[in-house]
Amino acid sequence: MTAEIISGTAISKQIRDELKQEVIQLKEKHNIIPGLATVLVGEDPASQSYVGSKARTCNELGIYSERHDLPADTDEQTLLALIDRLNKDTKINGILVQLPLPGHINENNVLIAIDPRKDVDGFHPINVGKLMIGEPDYLPCTPHGIQELLIRSGIETEGADVVVVGRSNIVGKPVANILMQKRDGANATVTVCHTRTRDLISHTRRADILIVAAGGKPKAITADMIKKGAVVIDVGVHRIGKTKEGKNILCGDVDFESIKEKAKAITPVPGGVGPMTIVMLMTNTVKSARLAAGLL
Ligand code: NAP
Repeated sequence: MTAEIISGTAISKQIRDELKQEVIQLKEKHNIIPGLATVLVGEDPASQSYVGSKARTCNELGIYSERHDLPADTDEQTLLALIDRLNKDTKINGILVQLPLPGHINENNVLIAIDPRKDVDGFHPINVGKLMIGEPDYLPCTPHGIQELLIRSGIETEGADVVVVGRSNIVGKPVANILMQKRDGANATVTVCHTRTRDLISHTRRADILIVAAGGKPKAITADMIKKGAVVIDVGVHRIGKTKEGKNILCGDVDFESIKEKAKAITPVPGGVGPMTIVMLMTNTVKSARLAAGLL
């Protein structure tokens, strides 16, 4: 058996095309242009590149975008004052603070300061709580992207045994929560594993859908750890070298080459979960614009 490759590149393109049309219609019918503000503190190259691609995607989709790049020594009060301004700015529907923030800034204080209606990352405790009770406005981007990959690849989650490796607030916990919701595209029976899980393999081996967001060791999940015919979603990203041209060589948490001979379907790294994250951010920004205009 050779697994179907679930292409995040292709699926995210589909969603981008749909969003482009939605943005055109919002402008034509309601004179609304969704707006996203990104806030970056410091000069971390990876963060700069993420913020850059978010701005480019906004441009491509017709979403208004604003970049606020602040020096690394910006104090918390200055950052909170900027967020307060963006909260009040009617051009802005989504505020994204690029994490991690420098150590002298308390991340929680900053995330809590974002108006939950503009929290397009879905990290504000109000939005986390709404997800928990099954009434989310915004789903966090990477977990939402994983759910979309499953839905759009025709993978049935209802009644499926889903095993998630990883319990972070940005991937593991929310993806578990999303897939256990009582609704279409979810209704799974979910187990969450972490570093204190006894006998990890006994869980991974019984998964119909295995989602790995551990980030520890590259290719740590090997073919002997999965059930034949499982669906494997690899969230991990590891930089394992450079090409001759100086580009990063990436791999995931999963040993793609061996697992693709045993799984029913698998996401590659790169080109799997990664491209979905940005597009779900755009989805949330457009949704926020609709909510602000009373269109939802
Ligand atoms: P994180 O905050 O470091 O959390 C990792 C989780 O995995 C923790 O809960 C940890 O358990 C668990 N874990 C680590 N090693 C394990 C092992 N050997 N066995 C069982 N559980 C293990 O990481 P994260 O932010 O969730 O990110 C995870 C990976 O996804 C990283 O590689 C990251 O780069 C990638 N990522 C990709 C995207 C994307 O868009 N493609 C987005 C976000 C993250 P404990 O809680 O017990 O420590």
